[in-house]
Amino acid sequence: MIEGVVNYVKCLLRLPGCRQVHRLLFDYVSGTLPPEKHAKLTAHLRDCPLCLEYVETYRLTLQTCKEACHPQEPMPPELEARLLEFIKKEL
Ligand SMILES: [Zn+2]
Repeated sequence: MIEGVVNYVKCLLRLPGCRQVHRLLFDYVSGTLPPEKHAKLTAHLRDCPLCLEYVETYRLTLQTCKEACHPQEPMPPELEARLLEFIKKEL
């Protein structure tokens, strides 16, 4: 309990552990960090609710973006034609 509060305050003060989580977030979520760094960040997340919440939000955002970029159904041809026309005209 007290350890959790201490970690929460550390996170608010953005001590090095928290800064590192934020800096390495994309590689961590993508699973491309070296195993030693990945393990260190995982250990930090176990004790730091703010960073854990941040990572989960980040992971969800990436997932949402991936789904938006690879929709289940193709774009209707009429909409695609209108969109291309708009892009050519406006951009
Ligand atoms: Zn933290």
